Amino acid sequence: MKKYNFNPGPAVLPASTIENTAKAVLDLNGSGLSLMEISHRSKDFISIMDETVALFREILSIPQGYSVLFLGGGASLQFLMLPYNLLNKKAAYLNTGSWASNAIKQARYLGEVVEVATSKDKNFSYIPRGYGIPGDADYFHITTNNTIYGTQIREDMDTGLPLAADMSSDIFSRPVDVSKYSVIYGGAQKNLGPAGVTFVIVREDALGKVERNIPAMLDYRTHIEKGSMFNTPPVLPIYASLQTLKWIKEKGGLEALARMNAEKAELLYSEIDRNPLFEATVREKKDRSLMNACFVMSGKYTGLEADFLAAAAAKGIIGIKGHRSVGGFRASMYNAMPKEGVELLADTMREFEKAKG
Ligand SMILES: *Cc1c(COP(=O)(O)O)cnc(C)c1O
Repeated sequence: MKKYNFNPGPAVLPASTIENTAKAVLDLNGSGLSLMEISHRSKDFISIMDETVALFREILSIPQGYSVLFLGGGASLQFLMLPYNLLNKKAAYLNTGSWASNAIKQARYLGEVVEVATSKDKNFSYIPRGYGIPGDADYFHITTNNTIYGTQIREDMDTGLPLAADMSSDIFSRPVDVSKYSVIYGGAQKNLGPAGVTFVIVREDALGKVERNIPAMLDYRTHIEKGSMFNTPPVLPIYASLQTLKWIKEKGGLEALARMNAEKAELLYSEIDRNPLFEATVREKKDRSLMNACFVMSGKYTGLEADFLAAAAAKGIIGIKGHRSVGGFRASMYNAMPKEGVELLADTMREFEKAKG
């Protein structure tokens, strides 16, 4: 049976990413060596790294003056690395979920952090609006897609301050105006590649303004200067990410993917809203994540959760159990989730309604 992987991350990847990486693990470009045993200083790998950076820049239309880094440590290390490099006295953060809360906690080691607004009062089920941001903050940090709670900031904000964004779970899902941001970062394992590599897009003239000494490994300038080769980069995850970037380009780039993602999300949310057995945890439609749809069984049907998970599993739908802090279900529909997977989920919900409603 074909499996549809709705896991939140690590998550579904294009078949070509997995096939090409598997081949390179056995034999890279007919070299007789595995991708896993080549030197990161070899000609083969340097050309892989160069191609990955170039394609990453091309697809996101990254302007001059920005560097693209591939590092270890996950998005979680960026929670600390970003303020190390950019927080001089004060930073402003929007608290829209657990990841944002973690980012705030780490930034507090390095200076004053103003939480400008939070949606914690309603279990992070909406995006706060109408808050003020202190004009003297060094930067304003947002989490564009809240993987756990299923909310998303779908447009690039204009705040008058340098923006920093955790885009772990919606990078490459839509076009982004990179020129509005000082730093964009994320773990690859949601929409780009396997776990193990973290991308960082950093505006070079935002650096060098803090007064503290920065340890070499935490200093963006170290990695810019060394082309992400200050220490051994995650060779295999970078190669796999390159395969996904090639797939994105073949699909027609970010405009095309944004259209497909909007279609898939519309398909699923309209079934959630129509079907009396289910309800979305994010009520406000414009706040709903196009990547992670969170929903629960409504009212008197709450006892049927395990039954629905079993009905879905019987169709090959896996990974839709909700995060423990929300409960119910979460369907993650990253770029590589085909439309027929989402159609199958919606059909399964309709059949479940007929059987149990
Ligand atoms: C998954 C995720 C993280 C954590 O990423 P790691 O690479 O595991 O550190 C951070 N932020 C968001 C929005 C995420 O979805």
